[in-house]
Amino acid sequence: MLIDTHCHLNDSSFDERLPEVIHRAKKHELCAIIVPAYDLESLSRTHRVCDHYPDFLFPVYGIHPWYVQPNINWNDLVFFINQPHTKAIGEIGLDHSEGCPSHDLQREALMIQLEYATTYNLPVIIHCRKAYEPLYEILKTYKGSIEGVIHSFSSSKEMMFKFIELGYYISFSGSVTRSKARKYHMNAKHIPLERMLLETDSPCIATESTVASQVEPRHSGEIAQMISQLRNLPYEHICDITTQNAKHLFRIHN
Ligand SMILES: [Zn+2]
Repeated sequence: MLIDTHCHLNDSSFDERLPEVIHRAKKHELCAIIVPAYDLESLSRTHRVCDHYPDFLFPVYGIHPWYVQPNINWNDLVFFINQPHTKAIGEIGLDHSEGCPSHDLQREALMIQLEYATTYNLPVIIHCRKAYEPLYEILKTYKGSIEGVIHSFSSSKEMMFKFIELGYYISFSGSVTRSKARKYHMNAKHIPLERMLLETDSPCIATESTVASQVEPRHSGEIAQMISQLRNLPYEHICDITTQNAKHLFRIHN
């Protein structure tokens, strides 16, 4: 079995085709899908979508660094964090790419949401682009008190081990399936298996076989296949261990 630990089935592009997508996911041996919210507006949609498929879609609530703004009404987020099926806080993080909200605003929103993670005893799903050092400095202050995953990790092997040392999981997306993605291959070859997760991040990241907009949870198998080749381990073993890891982090018991 497989778990897609990061998939935006709450994106409007899935509205019409969601039943087929879920059907294909189950046919391709998915046993759970984690669905992270990203802005205030997506919170209730995430809840609604996951409510339709209980024990298969699991909601995660947070404000993504792209969507932070001054004077966010955090009570809206807290309401959803308190729902019984919530599996984590996310996606949250830092993105220092051009055009993103100010670094100060992002940092403040991240700190607020990390505090919720400790208060409500939930793991976190972290998004990071071009800000791995400052992210590390912040997460370090919570070492031992917050668990989580760095989703679609895109930094160096050295940086990967720093986050593992803090207790984080590292999640591999379709990026690792691309034949020329040397850095991702290197990370997949060296990561301790008990720290590895799989995700499609659909509909945001292409795989070697499929354009981003057409990627679905079922493509988790293509990612597992690539990692099995890189590690020279049986496909089933990669599926089993990443599923166990995801169940442990997100406290999924089915
Ligand atoms: Zn995402």
